Amino acid sequence: MKLHIQNNFISELPADPSEINAPRQVEQAFYSYVLPKIPSNPSLIHASNEVANAIGLSPEDILSPDFLNTFSGSTVYPETKPFALCYAGHQFGNWAGQLGDGRAINLTEVVHGNETYTLQLKGAGPTPYSRTADGFAVLRSSIREYLCAEAMHYLGVPTTRSLSLMLSGDQVLRDVLYNGNPAFEKGAIVCRVAPSFIRFGSFELFSSRKDYINLKLLADFTIKHHFPHIQGEGVGKYLDFFHEVTQTTLNMIVHWQRVGFVHGVMNTDNMSIHGITIDYGPYGWLEDYNSNWTPNTTDRQHKRYRFGNQPEIALWNLYQLANALYPLIQDAKPLETILDAFSLDYEKEYLNMMQNKLGFQIKKETDAILIESLTQLLQLVETDMTIFFRNLGNVTKDDTATTAFNTIKDAFYNEKDLNETILKDWHEWFENYKTRINEEILSDSERKEQMNSINPKYVLRNYMAQLCIEDADKGNYSLLNELFEMLKKPYDEQSNFQKWFTKRPDWARDKVGCSMLSCSS
Ligand code: AMP
Ligand code: MG
Repeated sequence: MKLHIQNNFISELPADPSEINAPRQVEQAFYSYVLPKIPSNPSLIHASNEVANAIGLSPEDILSPDFLNTFSGSTVYPETKPFALCYAGHQFGNWAGQLGDGRAINLTEVVHGNETYTLQLKGAGPTPYSRTADGFAVLRSSIREYLCAEAMHYLGVPTTRSLSLMLSGDQVLRDVLYNGNPAFEKGAIVCRVAPSFIRFGSFELFSSRKDYINLKLLADFTIKHHFPHIQGEGVGKYLDFFHEVTQTTLNMIVHWQRVGFVHGVMNTDNMSIHGITIDYGPYGWLEDYNSNWTPNTTDRQHKRYRFGNQPEIALWNLYQLANALYPLIQDAKPLETILDAFSLDYEKEYLNMMQNKLGFQIKKETDAILIESLTQLLQLVETDMTIFFRNLGNVTKDDTATTAFNTIKDAFYNEKDLNETILKDWHEWFENYKTRINEEILSDSERKEQMNSINPKYVLRNYMAQLCIEDADKGNYSLLNELFEMLKKPYDEQSNFQKWFTKRPDWARDKVGCSMLSCSS
């Protein structure tokens, strides 16, 4: 197995001089060298051929002992020196100070096809940033991260990628419900891949410590290697950088809202500087469309990270990044101008995305009203988001309001909930929708094709991941393989997977792991 190694991060940025692997505060350093814990009996569960190929590995490489050893943390790849990143962050709106990679270990950067990738093991053992935790990850959460990142990629949502999923062969103790019932679970390690794992919280770390030398070093490094098109020096460079981060973050959130993804823990340490989805924890997918929903039980009370609040929180997080960058810019005005533009830009992009979901190629001002009334209607009774939008593509210009309504009827969880008023409202909405699509130039089939290319048929529903986890815990990976294949083509009909184009089954409604997830992972 041959990787084209590059070590820009560790060769250009200062390391923690101590290599003692014990929880501590680390000052004036970007990372600490740390070796992954050698797993007792590692085995490969799954690897992504596509990600392997991207970093220059063949299908044969995946099956080699080198691959198993490198991506389980058993051996260190030649000429690399693994390290854990030091970063800080705001958690649930509160300043949390130093956090860092508590259970992630960066292996190296790899260059292939003119792209740079950073490879990182998650769950490979303790680091100086593990605080009171153990540095490991269980199979349950590792499957969730591994599958979801790839599913998001194929949905066209910016994300970290997954290279491999391994069992460590060791047991990990977890109290899933935080109710004093800890149990052993299988330990696992995911190798994830991203341009870098630099976060908003990486900038907050140095800024909060008034370590402006390292703050500047980080900004300069990030721009030089990851935003090379940003030219020039001084304040303008940092403002361009900040502006670009707001734009990519905005774009990511619009995608989340498009597919019904709820991240669940949008803390600033979980916000990538690349505007990609990172740190899949207690995330979830909207089944019934509900802007108040969050899968994260830790956030049950305030629902800070609920579906409908994600754009607002992204902006809040960008404010924290702006504050962190301020010492390099020394002028609040241009930062505020960029931040002020976010809400308007978001409204514009969101509207455009929803118009596309509804199949409107011609954009009309009145569409905003139609969309607003739809999102209200969708929440009157439990209505499956994915099925609704997918079936909406089958509505034709000749439909009556009633036949159009019947086309999406399968999306209702309980048809009995549809009282007369609600039915009347739907009827009215479909009258308007019908009028609206008759103003379009595209034919029914052309419109359907366009809608089907952005309204997925298959997403990683919460209960699907849970079924897959229950099987995998027993050593059966066939469902994992099946879901992985299906999620590669989420917009295709794939009639062989039709059974997954269905509403959440009733047993999964309030089940732990399906609609309720804790941060325990
Ligand atoms: P999260 O919000 O899950 O991304 O994690 C917040 C912080 O806790 C990060 O610094 C993680 O590295 C750390 N963390 C989470 N789980 C563990 C664990 N099992 N062992 C060590 N650190 C952890
Ligand atoms: Mg995190």
